[in-house]
Amino acid sequence: MSVRVRFAPSPTGYLHVGGARTALFNWLYARKHGGQFLLRIEDTDKARSTDESTRAIFDGLNWLGLNWDEEVVYQGANLGRHQADARRMLDAGAAYRCFCTPDELEQRRKLAAASKDAFKYDRRCDRLAADEVQQRVAAGTPFVIRFRVPEGVTSWDDIVHETISFPSKDIEDFVILRSDGTPIYNMAVVSDDIAMRITHVMRGDDHISNTPKQILLYRALGAELPRFAHFPMIHGLDGKKLSKRHGATAVSDYQHLGILPQAMNNFLVLLGWSPGGDREVMSMDEMLQLFSEKGLLKKAAVFDTKKLEWMNGQHLSRLPAAELAPLAVPTFVQEGLFKSGDPFATSPEFYKILDFVKERCRTLSDLARLAKPYFTTTTTTMAPPPFVIDQALIDAHLRKDAAVTKALLTDATSALEALTDWTAEAMEPAVRAVAERHGVAAGKVFQPMRIALTASTVSPGIFEVLGQLGRDVSVKRLKEAAALAT
Ligand code: GLU
Repeated sequence: MSVRVRFAPSPTGYLHVGGARTALFNWLYARKHGGQFLLRIEDTDKARSTDESTRAIFDGLNWLGLNWDEEVVYQGANLGRHQADARRMLDAGAAYRCFCTPDELEQRRKLAAASKDAFKYDRRCDRLAADEVQQRVAAGTPFVIRFRVPEGVTSWDDIVHETISFPSKDIEDFVILRSDGTPIYNMAVVSDDIAMRITHVMRGDDHISNTPKQILLYRALGAELPRFAHFPMIHGLDGKKLSKRHGATAVSDYQHLGILPQAMNNFLVLLGWSPGGDREVMSMDEMLQLFSEKGLLKKAAVFDTKKLEWMNGQHLSRLPAAELAPLAVPTFVQEGLFKSGDPFATSPEFYKILDFVKERCRTLSDLARLAKPYFTTTTTTMAPPPFVIDQALIDAHLRKDAAVTKALLTDATSALEALTDWTAEAMEPAVRAVAERHGVAAGKVFQPMRIALTASTVSPGIFEVLGQLGRDVSVKRLKEAAALAT
């Protein structure tokens, strides 16, 4: 039997990182087993579901590359089948009509609470005589349909947790159809999962308590059970369930912060799964190769944004410039380094700049920021950005020891200008000799040079920077910086 799994988000907000993790695990499972990954939008809560949120789910999955098979299923469109399935259970005697009003139930709940008893529906409507039920129905008395939980224990062999059991005494006869004819979550999900021929239901731990109810519904409907897997919850660094308090929780936030989709996937896949050993950085292909249910973990996963940034840096530096460029271009356009559609975006010059700085970057924004000083010529669409050193950097690095710094920069510039070869091999001894002459450590010359050339304290090696910028630009910037050291 071919594997069919689904991701079933409710479109009531953005695509949450926890949802994306669940989608990724399902997608990997389907792709790994040559099966189908289906998408079902659970839009039965009309008041809270929005088209905008549905679009955010599509956009998020598309960005992550989690492509789904077959048409999207909209749960709300299956109301007729949900009702028919509930009726079928009613007709077969697996469910019954309950006429107790919400007020009456609330009253009884309060009474139970007052005597410190756990409240559970007492099945009084299940004991109504058949003609009494008929009379009430004929009189138009509103009713819900409740599932009659059979005695015994419901167990399943969870892919993550192994055996999980719930005794029936802990499950009340739950409602499957409301008095307005709409299904309760468990009813709609089971009806849809059966109709979609889902073989593996894989979702967050927060659904464990729904699973025994769903299993009972499968049985009452005479359907074959899927296998279940419940993934651990995702916590913030403080050990509490991940929420907005911990920072961004929408996938789109990370997209806009310059995180690469493969880095996001790599980070998410480690939230509840491990390939074993200390292997962490994986491409999508490697993830697919390594993914197996054996590595699924039970304990809560920790969402650490520092780790996500680190992971992003790892992916950024591993990507060849030609692959990195299309992902980076929107950020460069946003930073005003060239306009969208500029042929520069696919030029060897651009690739050279990307390769030059990528190893020092954690995000695409870092990439644009660190690449900026090397935009020294006009692209098809933009003049080079103005080269400006922040006042704080001027104060801290050029003006602190102004006289010495000025002398060092001036002498280093003269030494460099005198070179016939603009190569690291020629430049390095020349600049080191300047430091020696002044009796200072080489770093004392390198750091103001770095500020002078890149307007930043972070850059590749200083001689590589000089090589990348070329003689004219380098000399001009060094002289300008020396002038600032007063
Ligand atoms: N709509 C449910 C949720 O968002 C789906 C749960 C399930 O996968 O069965 O949690």
